[in-house]
Amino acid sequence: MNAIATNQTLLVIGGGISGMSAALEAAECGAEVVLVERNASLGGRTAQIYRYFPKLCHPLCGLEINLRRLRANPRVRVLTLAEVTEVSGRRGNYRVQVKLAPRYVNERCTACGECAKVVTRTIPNPYNQGLDTIKAAYLPHALAHPQRYVLDASLLGSPEAEAARAACPVGAIDLQMGVETIELSVGSIIWATGWKPYDAVKIQPYGYGRYLDVVTSVEFERLADPRGPTRGRILRPSNGEPATNIAFIQCAGSRDENHLRHCSRVCCMVSLKQTQYLREAAPEGAQATVYYIDIRAIDRFENFYQQVRADARVKFLKSKVARIVHNAQSGQLVLHGVDTEGYHRYAREHDLVVLAVGMEPETNGLDLPEDLIRDASGFIEGSSDGGQFGAGGAAAPLDVNRAVQSATAAALRALQVTRAAARAEELKG
Ligand SMILES: Cc1cc2nc3c(=O)[nH]c(=O)nc-3n(C[C@H](O)[C@H](O)[C@H](O)COP(=O)(O)OP(=O)(O)OC[C@H]3O[C@@H](n4cnc5c(N)ncnc54)[C@H](O)[C@@H]3O)c2cc1C
Repeated sequence: MNAIATNQTLLVIGGGISGMSAALEAAECGAEVVLVERNASLGGRTAQIYRYFPKLCHPLCGLEINLRRLRANPRVRVLTLAEVTEVSGRRGNYRVQVKLAPRYVNERCTACGECAKVVTRTIPNPYNQGLDTIKAAYLPHALAHPQRYVLDASLLGSPEAEAARAACPVGAIDLQMGVETIELSVGSIIWATGWKPYDAVKIQPYGYGRYLDVVTSVEFERLADPRGPTRGRILRPSNGEPATNIAFIQCAGSRDENHLRHCSRVCCMVSLKQTQYLREAAPEGAQATVYYIDIRAIDRFENFYQQVRADARVKFLKSKVARIVHNAQSGQLVLHGVDTEGYHRYAREHDLVVLAVGMEPETNGLDLPEDLIRDASGFIEGSSDGGQFGAGGAAAPLDVNRAVQSATAAALRALQVTRAAARAEELKG
């Protein structure tokens, strides 16, 4: 790896839609790129979205196009189960330590699934937000890149690990794999480490974690997806009955002095989109109510908003919900607040509540290089030496379209740094 990484190489950290886009744009301009992804496969959170707003198309189409570009481009070296642990040096000449976690399955894997057939142990399914389980020998998801199984470390030392090894027809299971650390020299770095949902437990009055029927918008994506834990039926986690009267609460954690001060920008569109999931995933007659402060649907999204407004299944109530309580008699959740259009108090019952949780940088709480410049919410703007850049969800809460634009811009700026490093080498030589 050291051999292909030089100070003219560009490092992209994070293999979501932004990291893939930045890596591809730079490689298609002729740069050598190393793409480092912490998970076992690429795609990031986009791969877990059921449908995209506003067209309600499947995100896997967009990812598939990028995967095809990636397979066709030998200039991008992809490292999965890989995390950057240290960055030193400066613009044009960084040294980066990368820790590689063991997959226990090597490149020979053909994803035939024979190993999984002999394994019975299960683990929470990360693809479905832990809402169901998968076997401890698993393919992360249908479109996973690389198409290679992972053996969970909990299997190690068990007879099942040996059975999985014996069952593999191509000898791809290597139980001796361990943690490795490699060092890369690179000229510039793009942080495409994305976002994470705000921890809904912290919004105490909404009872997430206390009431099973309060879920986050991120979990709701998986509930509506036919590849999700309920095979695409929107069921109440408390009793498995179909949800028919769903509340969507906007700004759950965003635009709030006690939580995230910033607007997460995509949540309004996400909830509008998710009301439309009811058409295929909920019983006839199911209703949605959107509780909102104001709806932020910019540019072309305004049409989609108007379309949802005209949907008889969807009601809008302008109010910041104050608290949620459980009615033990009816088994329903009661939302309390004040309707700011009529200034009257309400107590309204729903059978499922979806919190449109805010987005914060995935890197919040991590040890980052000191010279990274971050805004008040922790989103990465760049570095003081001008050689590192934030892209996509790591740089701001963005929808996919804007995340890709941001990644393309970051790729161009990073290329300028590596090209300058190359020119400096030429002059020296
Ligand atoms: C509920 C919900 C629904 C949404 N629906 C839509 C929609 O319909 N349409 C739309 O346009 N947008 C939607 N969005 C927004 C969309 O999810 C983001 O635009 C998109 O995920 C941004 O991609 P990204 O690559 O920047 O970040 P991410 O998808 O977060 O990817 C970041 C990647 O970096 C990796 N990573 C993180 N830290 C490290 C590290 N230290 N080392 C190595 N790798 C690391 C992660 O594992 C991940 O693979 C939705 C958002 C939410 C909350």
